Amino acid sequence: MNKQSIYGLTAERLAEWLGERGHKKSRATQVWEGLYRKRVAAFSGMSDVNAECVRLLEDHFAIETLTEHTKQESVDGTVKFLFRLQDGNLIETVLMRHKFGLSVCVTTQVGCNIGCSFCASGLLAKSRDLSAGEIAEQIMKVQLYLDRAGKGEKVSHIVVMGIGEPFDNYANLQDFLAIVKDPKGLAIGPRHITVSTSGLADKIKRFADEDPGVNLAVSLHAPNDELRTRIMKINRAIPIAKLMEAIDYYLERTRRRITLEYILLKDVNDRREIALELAELIGDRRPLVNVNLIPYNPVDEHSQYQRSTQEAITDFYDALKKQGVSVSVRLEHGTDIDAACGQLRSKQIKATS
Ligand code: SAH
Ligand code: SF4
Repeated sequence: MNKQSIYGLTAERLAEWLGERGHKKSRATQVWEGLYRKRVAAFSGMSDVNAECVRLLEDHFAIETLTEHTKQESVDGTVKFLFRLQDGNLIETVLMRHKFGLSVCVTTQVGCNIGCSFCASGLLAKSRDLSAGEIAEQIMKVQLYLDRAGKGEKVSHIVVMGIGEPFDNYANLQDFLAIVKDPKGLAIGPRHITVSTSGLADKIKRFADEDPGVNLAVSLHAPNDELRTRIMKINRAIPIAKLMEAIDYYLERTRRRITLEYILLKDVNDRREIALELAELIGDRRPLVNVNLIPYNPVDEHSQYQRSTQEAITDFYDALKKQGVSVSVRLEHGTDIDAACGQLRSKQIKATS
């Protein structure tokens, strides 16, 4: 049987687990530091942890459950990793370089059941959720890659925007967030972490209640139900009114800004009038909302969609700005290496099947 990843345990759970087996609290701190500060490749590398404890960990946990299948490095410094899970499934993780630091985009599920009509990840139905350990290990793998390069670079930001719907894997997502935020471990600040959801309203409310302090982005992509349902079938079950109600709840509870993601699809949702409709929908939430316009990365299987022209992107941006909406355009990374969400994986699967 495969052992579970040690990276899936929160610091609290690790201390509990060792405590149940007669180890002191300080032992848990040493193990945690070995994992996240020294970043050892094997339990035996934790020189300050005694042999008995090392054996116990080795018997129950794996320190490596992901193996690198392929890695593509872009001219702009973006690195896209394709990892093989213990069960043979492939997932992708992307390292991006920005002026403000290094961010990693993680995958949360094998495939995605939301099935948005423009998305490569949605082409493959979800076969399973990733464990918290499999999500956290993606960050560790990228950090170890940076460590090997020897420049002292550190992952500073995380975006939960890879394959999958994070709120459809809610408990593991929360554990993952606790693990990467832990001040004695990777210590990634909550404001440096963004979770993106296709808009599961109930979970947005729960996230507001449990508030892990991270940023939330909601994939809106259209300001009215007719258009949104065409693009995202989830809108049938959770229409815009219900989504906005959950967003209001979130804004009220957390008092933090939210990002609305908006993919620009040529002649589908990129007209000026639609920008005005979007501004109207945002209404007096303006001070708490930032719209992030995403230039579409064409996907072979979804040939009905093309990227908006630069002119249309600028017009849409200007129209929102004029309406007093805070708006940004997502910078693209690694366009030469199939950077769109799910693309590398689906290509690899096609090539090997
Ligand atoms: N399932 C979540 C998170 C993963 S997708 C969600 O949908 O929000 C992360 C973001 O990438 C979403 O805003 C999604 O709409 C966008 N995306 C998906 N496919 C894309 C593509 N081909 N080009 C550009 N953005 C894409
Ligand atoms: Fe799933 Fe997000 Fe892709 Fe939609 S855009 S299919 S929710 S990964």
